[in-house]
Amino acid sequence: MSMLTVFFTAVLVIGVVLWSAARSDQVTRDRQFQTVSDAITLGLQKIPFDQESVAYWDDAVLNVRKAFDVKWVDVNLGVWMYDYFKHDRVYILNAQDRVLYAMADGKQVALTTDRPNNLVGALATEVRGKIEAGSSEKREGGKVNIPRTEDLGFIEGRPAAVSVMPLMPHSKEVSQERGSESLIVSVRFLDRSFLSDMADAYLLEGVRFSRTNDLSDEEQAYPLKSKSGAVIGNVVWMPKLPGARILSEVLPVLAAGLFVIGIAVSLLVRSLRRTYTELMTSEAQARHLASHDTLTGLPNRAFFNDRLEEALIEVKGGREQIALMFLDLDRFKQVNDTLGHAAGDALIRELAAHLSATLRPGDALARMGGDEFAIVMRNIQDRREIDALCMDIVAAVSKPFEVLGGQATVGISIGVAIAPDVGVDRSELARKADIALYQAKKNGRRRYQFFTEEMGESAQKRRTLEAELRRAIENENELEVVYQPLYSAERLGISGVEALVRWHHPRLGSVSPVVFVALAEECGLIDKLGDWVLRQACKAASAWSVETVAVNISSVQLRQPDFAERVLHILSETGMAPSRLEIEITESTLLDGSESSARALKILRAAGIRVALDDFGTGNSSLSYLMKLEVDRVKIDRSFVRHLGESSQSYSIVQAIVTMAHAVGVPVTAEGVETRDQQEFLTRIGCNHLQGYLLSPPLSALRLVEIFGGRKGRTGGEPSAAVA
Ligand code: C2E
Ligand code: CA
Ligand code: CA
Repeated sequence: MSMLTVFFTAVLVIGVVLWSAARSDQVTRDRQFQTVSDAITLGLQKIPFDQESVAYWDDAVLNVRKAFDVKWVDVNLGVWMYDYFKHDRVYILNAQDRVLYAMADGKQVALTTDRPNNLVGALATEVRGKIEAGSSEKREGGKVNIPRTEDLGFIEGRPAAVSVMPLMPHSKEVSQERGSESLIVSVRFLDRSFLSDMADAYLLEGVRFSRTNDLSDEEQAYPLKSKSGAVIGNVVWMPKLPGARILSEVLPVLAAGLFVIGIAVSLLVRSLRRTYTELMTSEAQARHLASHDTLTGLPNRAFFNDRLEEALIEVKGGREQIALMFLDLDRFKQVNDTLGHAAGDALIRELAAHLSATLRPGDALARMGGDEFAIVMRNIQDRREIDALCMDIVAAVSKPFEVLGGQATVGISIGVAIAPDVGVDRSELARKADIALYQAKKNGRRRYQFFTEEMGESAQKRRTLEAELRRAIENENELEVVYQPLYSAERLGISGVEALVRWHHPRLGSVSPVVFVALAEECGLIDKLGDWVLRQACKAASAWSVETVAVNISSVQLRQPDFAERVLHILSETGMAPSRLEIEITESTLLDGSESSARALKILRAAGIRVALDDFGTGNSSLSYLMKLEVDRVKIDRSFVRHLGESSQSYSIVQAIVTMAHAVGVPVTAEGVETRDQQEFLTRIGCNHLQGYLLSPPLSALRLVEIFGGRKGRTGGEPSAAVA
């Protein structure tokens, strides 16, 4: 574009230069023509002026008229005219026009004829006519106006200017009778000194005389015309035209200039283009950075949302069906915790590459954050396409990943929402995909789940419940801690109580902790809830005579880095002795391998707090903890107790647990004792403590004050099973 501009500018500039050269040539031609014209006019005018200097002279009149003094005439009127004025020929004619004297080229020449040639004769006649008419009498400023006549023509076959005038006295002493005048004739050949003088005076070059108009291209001509108008020839010269010089001088400079400008412009353009490209690249980079995830290079949430909106426009127009998929890694936190964050990052990158490779063209993939990804599948013809992609992904991600020299096994769960089936609004669709993902996780991970309306309802309910629980925990008015006594199997005296939380929901009535403890864990309320229960229990128990208070601790609570410190703080706050507190944790809590859990347990046990292993038997590995003496009590899970009397196998299991625990010196509690038979069997095989509806349901704090009303220290004995 810009090079084109430069090119046209160059063409224009050169055009202007050429035109101005031609124009200045033309101007020069015109001016030189004028100069030559002036020069010729002046040159011709000068002939009679020169002539007059001798014609208007007493001596001339006398020496010609009286006794013709040839010698004097030759010196003063002949040679003089040649030497001084360069007149080529001079003739003196008497009153009858006879030639008395002739000079040629500075020398007197012999007369070949006494008649002058035709031109001279005609001019002589003309002059005499003027004298006759009395023109010589006219005086201008005291000076006689000498009649004269001149013309251009040919003398001796050559072009010449001829001037004829009478010899006249300039004083009164010499008289001259009219009609008796002698004439002097001067001739200047136009092709000789006249021409060269003019050339010298006006610095003309190549000056020549040409009869015909035989000009070359460079030459210029001035036509010489006689009085009758006939062209007798041309003065030809070579005009010094500035155009060529201008061109020869200007063009190289101009070309160099244009070249330099061209280079400069092209450099400028190139640098501009580079700057522009750089700007565009950096802008694109900035845009890319703003819309892409730095770790994986995948689009980020914002960009993904745009893509989703685009797709939804097609959906709304009824032109296609799409699937929004939310993907979430299972057990990614463990990879981060055990192999380190670098390995976690490597895994995410690897996964991103893997997912990109699985997609069909047109589908969009994004990293939404952490270990969450999202996919928009476009243009779905058949639900089986979604099934196929999801199965591919789940299967691929279930295989171990090689990361930073280690192996990580994770899984992936996928929630799918199909538009327009379940909605066409972006946030609605996202919410539904999220619910489906949640369901997939809940249903055991490593699977995919399509959103259904039932899920939506339960999710809706769950959100409401979550809000209500949050409020209940903050207000503390709907929550209560109840206490279920534990009895020594031998003497059936109360050895301790287990704190169990209750939620008295204004609309739903009593909500089970099985429901809302899990909910609190999921929505991050468990710490607040747990602290509250612990504080209530410690406050209450510090006023009772009961030996131990057991409090259930969720694995989520135990993983909090400051959990141990918070427990110790609550103990000192309530004045409760650590040795009277027992925390109940499940096997899975011990097995999750979290460092912070292990550290918390260590600190708490060191402080004298006891640890009970709850729901024992439902996990898969427990012996190692028992062996390491990291627990102070084992609680046989209610499900084993319930099945006692139903199958012989359950007897063996319970027997085995008791034997195993006793082998390492850990006492055993059986929970959920509902029948006498169960009680008898458990007592018989050596269970240390019993807990269950048979002996006592969980009781309110008020009720316990009635039982343990007195100071602490009154343990065991009464009250007995009678409370049940
Ligand atoms: P868990 O620790 O196994 O608590 C014993 C559960 O068995 C209690 O149910 C109790 O009411 C019930 N139970 C006691 N005796 C019998 C019986 O003879 N028959 C039957 N069928 N059930 C009996 P609850 O209070 O509904 O608690 C359920 C679970 O909720 C508890 O199981 C515990 O894991 C959790 N939980 C309760 N309170 C808390 C708490 O404050 N914090 C935490 N983290 N979890 C709690
Ligand atoms: Ca428990
Ligand atoms: Ca239990």
